[in-house]
Amino acid sequence: MVNVTINNRQVEVEEGSTILEAARKLNIEIPTLCFLKGINEVGDCRMCVVEVEGMRGMTPACITKVRDGMVVHTATPKVLEARSVVLDLILSNHDRKCLTCTRNGNCELQRLAQEFNVDEIEFDGERVEKKIDDLSPSIVRDNNKCILCRRCVAACKNVQGIGAIDCAGRGFSSSISTYKDLSLNDVNCTFCGQCIEACPVGALKEKDSTKDVWKALRDEDKYVVVQTAPAVRVGLGEEFGMEIGTNVAGKMVTALRLLGFDKVFDTNTGADFTIVEEGTEFIERATNGGTLPMITSCSPGWVRYMELNYPELIPHLSTCKSPHQMFGAIVKSWYAEKMGIDPSKIYMVSVMPCIAKKFERTRDDMQGTGFDDVDAVITTRELARMIKQAHIEFTGLEDSGFDDPMGEATGAAAIFGTTGGVMEAALRTVAEKVTGKTFDKLDYEAVRGEQGIKRASINLDGKEVKVVVASGLKNAQTILEEIKAGKADYQFVEIMACPGGCVMGGGQPIRSSKDRATIDIRSKRAGALYTIDEASTLRKSHENPVLQAIYKDYLGEAGGHKAHELLHTSYVAREKYKLED
Ligand code: SF4
Ligand code: SF4
Ligand code: SF4
Repeated sequence: MVNVTINNRQVEVEEGSTILEAARKLNIEIPTLCFLKGINEVGDCRMCVVEVEGMRGMTPACITKVRDGMVVHTATPKVLEARSVVLDLILSNHDRKCLTCTRNGNCELQRLAQEFNVDEIEFDGERVEKKIDDLSPSIVRDNNKCILCRRCVAACKNVQGIGAIDCAGRGFSSSISTYKDLSLNDVNCTFCGQCIEACPVGALKEKDSTKDVWKALRDEDKYVVVQTAPAVRVGLGEEFGMEIGTNVAGKMVTALRLLGFDKVFDTNTGADFTIVEEGTEFIERATNGGTLPMITSCSPGWVRYMELNYPELIPHLSTCKSPHQMFGAIVKSWYAEKMGIDPSKIYMVSVMPCIAKKFERTRDDMQGTGFDDVDAVITTRELARMIKQAHIEFTGLEDSGFDDPMGEATGAAAIFGTTGGVMEAALRTVAEKVTGKTFDKLDYEAVRGEQGIKRASINLDGKEVKVVVASGLKNAQTILEEIKAGKADYQFVEIMACPGGCVMGGGQPIRSSKDRATIDIRSKRAGALYTIDEASTLRKSHENPVLQAIYKDYLGEAGGHKAHELLHTSYVAREKYKLED
């Protein structure tokens, strides 16, 4: 431990801490912009400069380590002037169209401008209008709002191991760019959205689908059905100032009804279908010499990564569609038939924590009924925007439940939203299917927790199944290299594109750099999902009575012909870069 004095107050901190961390222990706030803990710690933007006695000039607090006896001043007139100049320079080359910006109200630059009481831009000068990249179905990149902090570059390269974006050019012509300045649609981008979560401003955002959804809701000829993914209910409340990890399922359902959806269903029912189909596929592969290890396929950012980078390993991917696509296909087939609704009139909206799902719904082989399984995907953030637009007082809403008959789901489905959840849900079903016994032990602790890669050996009544769970694409790469090198001694693998799983998806509420450094956001959101699971009466997907009825009356056998037609898909090798001829 070392003793430091900051603004005349003493604090004891661990050796190796930065000035920023030491100041936070004293609740002294030092502004940052380019800093993102564990991801981008470079001290480039100089917003966090402080004065240290005995040191010449000023030093960035985010990367300067404390020494015993160090005396720091974080808010001298000189320091404040230096930060003002930095802010002025950034704002001078920024489009400042806050009123029409998705980050209005949740922008780190806007907040700093407020705090610094900016009333005019001293260095206002020439600006270059940059083109907006909105070609992809998932993501929009607007360099006119980019402040060149490189947090997105670090998230893409260091966390995801991809490097789809980087800094190009020098000085005034510096910009964040892609290979040959192609659209993100035409490079090795997976649409995971981790760059959006990292961006402090509105330079990166999801492709908006709310206008399409409003249009469908206004169309009296359409029967508009909405389904919501497990992770959305433990994230949405944050958009309304609620505590991280609050389960707002009841309020969310009420809000969706107020928005005018004809039916409000639960993607968790789709997740139960995924487990039953995936479990059946795994047992079939394991007993009949199929390709192993089998890898889960419910994370579309991960699937795209595989198609772009490891097409030779595609046979390892489960052919199961992701839960919301399965659910869309069931609604447009079984449900439409049961209710006597023309499936061409059904407009299926998925509310997802993910922006890759926007891309996924446009894939080939996602039209099990002859119609698109899903017609629009909106993120947790977009749903919050729709609720705000309709002036619904979200926090004061009464709770209500999902609509029957597709509103019943198990606890196993709820934990799909966090890393390890799909594996745990699958093991609950596989264990009983393989042994023909009923198990009371349902918690597979070995696959829980925050580690990027978790390995476990599970004893299924004398049979050993080795499993691996990986989240984040850099970790996925480690597993794929093992499989490629013939070193995989495991049979079943779960991979999620986003570090921590869907609770930390690219469509979830964006938290500030400070929140990310000081709050365990993943654990809080994931903890809420485990609480839902524990409180559920049914905790095994194959025990969901809705599924049992649909298999009995409509689909036939799990993994059978009709189930394959509606609930399974195929994959393609993709070019990493699409260059014009
Ligand atoms: S990025 Fe922030 S400062 Fe820039 S226009 Fe958007 S809200 Fe305003
Ligand atoms: S969406 Fe993911 S892969 Fe694409 S640029 Fe952003 S971080 Fe990189
Ligand atoms: S796009 Fe966002 S995260 Fe990336 S450099 Fe620009 S401002 Fe920073």
